[in-house]
Amino acid sequence: NSEITTLADLARVQARHFPDDKALIYQDKSLTYSQLDIQSNRVANALLAKRIKEQSRIALLAKDSLSSYTILFACAKINAVLVPINWRLAAAEVSYILRDADVEFLFVGSEFQTLIETIINELDGVKTIISLADKPQDKWLTYENWCHSHSDVQPNMTININNVVVQMYTSGTTGRPKGVQLAHYSFFAIAQEFLKEGKSWINWHEKDKSLLILPCFHIGGLWWAIRGLVSGAENILLSTFDSVEILKIIPEYRITKTCLVPAMIQVLLSEPQCKKTDFSSLEYIIYGGSPIAESSLKEAMSTFACNFVQIYGMTETGNCAVSLSPDAHTLATNPDRLKSAGKPFPGVSVAILDSEGKEVPSTKVGEICIKSPANMIGYWKLSEATANTLVNGWIHTGDAGYFDTEGYIYICDRIKDMICCASENIYPAEIENILYEHPAVAEVAVIGVPDADFGETIKAIVVLKAGMHVTALDIIQFVRGKLADFKLPRSVEFAESLPRTLSGKLQKAKLREKYWQGYQRKVN
Ligand code: ATP
Ligand code: MG
Repeated sequence: NSEITTLADLARVQARHFPDDKALIYQDKSLTYSQLDIQSNRVANALLAKRIKEQSRIALLAKDSLSSYTILFACAKINAVLVPINWRLAAAEVSYILRDADVEFLFVGSEFQTLIETIINELDGVKTIISLADKPQDKWLTYENWCHSHSDVQPNMTININNVVVQMYTSGTTGRPKGVQLAHYSFFAIAQEFLKEGKSWINWHEKDKSLLILPCFHIGGLWWAIRGLVSGAENILLSTFDSVEILKIIPEYRITKTCLVPAMIQVLLSEPQCKKTDFSSLEYIIYGGSPIAESSLKEAMSTFACNFVQIYGMTETGNCAVSLSPDAHTLATNPDRLKSAGKPFPGVSVAILDSEGKEVPSTKVGEICIKSPANMIGYWKLSEATANTLVNGWIHTGDAGYFDTEGYIYICDRIKDMICCASENIYPAEIENILYEHPAVAEVAVIGVPDADFGETIKAIVVLKAGMHVTALDIIQFVRGKLADFKLPRSVEFAESLPRTLSGKLQKAKLREKYWQGYQRKVN
């Protein structure tokens, strides 16, 4: 929809097009497009009454619910900036983000009030806290009571597409989360590029029933919710990932589209109920955010029997930047195509650069760099990191990858996780992909551990499926013949579980810690 260029427009324009259609459903509650617009006006006016200034940071620490979106649109309408916080973080990490972002106003879900109480003394900058709890609270002003008496007329403010509207922290897979400043254009620029080319992406339509599984504090979750709302679809919200619930909701609501991460696909496939579930309503499953094991992708394609689209991007690129089409999943004559993340979206350029910043020829590995009309404005308060990451409009992703001769992009792994063994560069994801085919392996992480002769050597950390027993040698032998010998793990350790972020990303830095104490690891 070309009328929509800001998040403020989104609520207003859709209320005109689809006033009585359901925009968002959460458990037994819902909001029509008109209610979403009106309620967000009310919250916007309540915030203005609190003298919230333009570009003030307003934080949200809550599991996703209808109010997450009313608050988002309220911020957009008054030119404030929403800072959605990962509720899985520990108190000290939440405190860090609230202080780093200079948050003045905080909305907090009832489950997190105790956490906020433990850090309240550190939060001088936070002037107002509003509880999202259903029932009135002793200490806290509740959301409903707070905004209920305010006008529902849209505030009269001009919103520029270049105004920052969301400050989203990166997943923190490789270190401390960084505040990424995203302006309105980040959420609409790629859709506009599709329009220019007279194309649409994944055939969105207003009859769609879209399932929102990923949380809105991650770019994938927020981006997906906005795509559904722009299409006038009905968007069914989940507050947490619950595989049993998802398998019930898909047939019950006749879900047509959803977006999730590979770790979630694996959990769904392992549910006994999965094979018996009716997935006939599904048109598209969109997945990405971390590497997917080919074996689990193939199983998912046959189980869900719908179109599959892979996406690749990062918080810094606003929108995802690269995608692998359904046709590339099924019609490919090239058996390697399923290992690819696909081709750039319209308007997006991808370059593979060597360490000197020169483009490398196709099939050669280098750093994936992305120039997208949705790229971030910059990191918040991290000028050095911004200068290193955003160079002349190009985001340096920190991911290693290559183009094949047909222009498909392959992601090898994060450069920080690459293992440099006897001057060979080894990408753990390739070895993990093989090990996932082992019938006893439930989860696996491959990391580099220090070695006196080779700098580092390959270690596989394996979580076995319940009741399975294999030896380290079995694991090593399984890779033999499938990959070059220098890519065989030198050692194997069995673990109960692996450290992951909420969106299922393996936190390899945490895994490496124990082995690298007293050593200095070189990163290219
Ligand atoms: P941090 O930057 O704080 O360490 P993060 O990089 O995990 O965390 P995000 O912005 O959420 O934070 O994730 C982007 C990263 O996710 C990409 O740089 C890439 O490594 C990985 N990724 C995203 N999509 C894919 C994909 N389709 N295949 C493989 N990896 C992917
Ligand atoms: Mg990152």
